[in-house]
Amino acid sequence: MTRYSYFYTKDPESKLRKPNIIAKEKENFMNILFFGPNGSGKGTQGAILKDKYNIAHIESGAIFRENIKGGTELGAKAKEYINRGDLVPDEITIPMILDRLKRDDCKNGWLLDGFPRNKNQAIKLDESLKKANMALDIVLEIILDREIAKNRIMGRRLCANDNNHPNNIYIDAIKPDGDKCRVCGGELSKRADDQDEDAINKRHGIYYDTESGTLAAAYYFKDFAGGEGSIKYITLDGAPSVKEVTAELVSKL
Ligand SMILES: [Zn+2]
Repeated sequence: MTRYSYFYTKDPESKLRKPNIIAKEKENFMNILFFGPNGSGKGTQGAILKDKYNIAHIESGAIFRENIKGGTELGAKAKEYINRGDLVPDEITIPMILDRLKRDDCKNGWLLDGFPRNKNQAIKLDESLKKANMALDIVLEIILDREIAKNRIMGRRLCANDNNHPNNIYIDAIKPDGDKCRVCGGELSKRADDQDEDAINKRHGIYYDTESGTLAAAYYFKDFAGGEGSIKYITLDGAPSVKEVTAELVSKL
């Protein structure tokens, strides 16, 4: 995608409605916020977008780990909270994220995954991006029913021979062959994390909360979408196969 600053012809009767390009700012540039519940394939789609458009795929969890490992000032502050078992406040998290988004590998754009997690963070991130003069171009939301998302997590199976052999008892396209790997016939096992139903319910409880949780954060940006020069809000049906979701995504970008 090429980003333009443009306006549409004022005549509402115009059948053309072609954008009048007044300034082309930068080639192949897009800054994206990515929303989707655990189990929606968000990580997979993020990796595909990163390769296809050569943008940085940034996961908020990785930012914490890097700052703490790198011994940055913000990392040291974050560590104090984490060590006490407290949530790291937005006053630390958001500057860390902005620092990350300014790095060289973000010159073609970035895809931020895992933040904001609630509406409050969305408001603060929006303010901070504006203050830093950084544009947000696209907000992506993968829509997937909560029950299906949970099944997809709990249905994952690991192949003893190769971690990259996808098997999932709840996804037809990658259903195991009986109790064996569908690719190589290897033994299958479950990851303990994937079977922790309480943890999954807790995370999904935050995600699907449309009042103050993660979906409320997504909808905060949706409210700004559609106007002139504004954010493009894209929804994707997360139910079909990875390939089909990617195809829908690419066609909408
Ligand atoms: Zn296998």
